[in-house]
Amino acid sequence: MSRIVVIGAGLGGLGAALRLQGMGHEVTVVEQCAKPGGRASQIKDAGYTWDTGPSLITMPWVLEEVFAAGGLNFHTEITMRELDPFYRIFWAGEERHLDFVRDREAMQAEIAKFSARDATAFPGYMDAMKPIYEEGILGAGRRKFDSIAQLLRFTPRMVKLGAALPLHFATSRHFSDERIREAFSFHSLFIGGDPFRVPAIYGALVYLQFLDGVWYADGGVYAIIEAMARALDVRCGDGVARIETAQGRVTGVTTVGGRHIAADAVVTNADAMRVHELLGRPRPRRRLTPSMSAFLLYLGTRDRFERLGHHTLLVGDGYRRFIKDVTGGRQLPANFSTYVHAPNRTEPAMAPDDGDSLCFLLPVPNLRSGTDWAVHSEALRDALVADLEQTFGLTGLGASVRVEHRMTPADFSERLGALDGNAWAMEPTLHQSASLRPPNRDKHVRGLYRVGGGTHPGAGIPGVLLGAEITAGLVGEDFGRGTGTHGKPHAARA
Ligand SMILES: Cc1cc2nc3c(=O)[nH]c(=O)nc-3n(C[C@H](O)[C@H](O)[C@H](O)COP(=O)(O)OP(=O)(O)OC[C@H]3O[C@@H](n4cnc5c(N)ncnc54)[C@H](O)[C@@H]3O)c2cc1C
Repeated sequence: MSRIVVIGAGLGGLGAALRLQGMGHEVTVVEQCAKPGGRASQIKDAGYTWDTGPSLITMPWVLEEVFAAGGLNFHTEITMRELDPFYRIFWAGEERHLDFVRDREAMQAEIAKFSARDATAFPGYMDAMKPIYEEGILGAGRRKFDSIAQLLRFTPRMVKLGAALPLHFATSRHFSDERIREAFSFHSLFIGGDPFRVPAIYGALVYLQFLDGVWYADGGVYAIIEAMARALDVRCGDGVARIETAQGRVTGVTTVGGRHIAADAVVTNADAMRVHELLGRPRPRRRLTPSMSAFLLYLGTRDRFERLGHHTLLVGDGYRRFIKDVTGGRQLPANFSTYVHAPNRTEPAMAPDDGDSLCFLLPVPNLRSGTDWAVHSEALRDALVADLEQTFGLTGLGASVRVEHRMTPADFSERLGALDGNAWAMEPTLHQSASLRPPNRDKHVRGLYRVGGGTHPGAGIPGVLLGAEITAGLVGEDFGRGTGTHGKPHAARA
């Protein structure tokens, strides 16, 4: 049995810890925040409950597998409910809305509300996404990707499938109506990717929702975090200040509070672009670009805003300009496109009586923009609420607020240690993907591994949990304890 320290109790850290513990290792998770979860934390106030970050669950079998690998039964721990429609999309100044529904004929009827031609293109789009999902997401996302040679072998096939083209461009080859193009390419925003620049491999994120559904966990995503953390030794409230090494191999960690924990291996879930700081080493020559950030507004309202579904997207005027401002810009966006989560649509206990528990996610530039959030947060909040009232018909939202919380890029930086306050690790562009990301197993320090949004395959609930499988497998290779895949391997479905 080896002693393993996991730095950080985000989903990836907890996933790796569960797998490693299931393999028979002695695992300690060290988290700097007061509770586990990282980006997937929770706020409770006056009877309202909000998941702070992820809310939309896809590929639920990945969760089943990680629980099983840790000796837990996912379905006795967590009650899952399928959401259909997955989400509703409204566009500014447009009466019609688009529901994403799982039944493919019903989905065609939804698309036909905007374009009959695009409705007929939908089956062809799904056929094109199938091999990208199977080979690009499942094939590459479940194995280590740590050499350029491997990348060179993988790339021609992806090029042939059109998966290396920019996502919005590739989507536009199938659909002609701009709203349908936006609807089928916004998904990369959930992992911090600009739909106009990231590769079309992320188009498969739509395909997999139709394949496996979109799910909600009772109690929110945080119920999953709690179930994972309960099974582990998670020590919160004292972060790791330093990863200790001797003769090129890790020997343990020292916490900010001065505690030393000896370890044979260290798995870090801390921001992958800052691991050199924990090692006391200079910044690597290759500078990675962190993702955009997010401004999150958690509102507990007296009234219910029935226009909103469980998941709703509100697309503002000038969407393309908006994306440009938040991904590369130096200024806050002038028009807003937001995602809204209203969990009490599915689980009434998430808000009191007639009220709503609403989380608004507005993508914003990260701290490289130079925005002083202590100064701008209030004005942005007011402008966003006014826009939601005027542009998207949420009349009376501001006056209905009983309790409110928010999270800005400064919080991502200060609370979670995110470089430049990024919300989704590094940008998932082509030149920051697969073996061009920081590797799951460090190439210079023996016994050091990475997990989470900043390593392969990347961000998102399934992404970081598939990454946990890869990382645990590498620890297993090095320490001779299983492969980290105790769960039944998932076969690609038709
Ligand atoms: C607003 C938002 C909405 C999202 N929505 C979705 C969604 O709907 N569906 C989806 O699939 N994905 C979504 N995502 C993405 C998903 O939430 C993340 O990719 C995932 O939760 C990140 O997990 P992680 O393993 O990288 O850990 P993180 O959540 O990044 O956690 C890392 C942990 O490490 C800790 N840490 C850092 N440094 C130290 C240190 N030195 N010592 C100790 N601890 C340390 C941090 O405090 C933190 O707890 C969303 C993300 C955000 C931000």
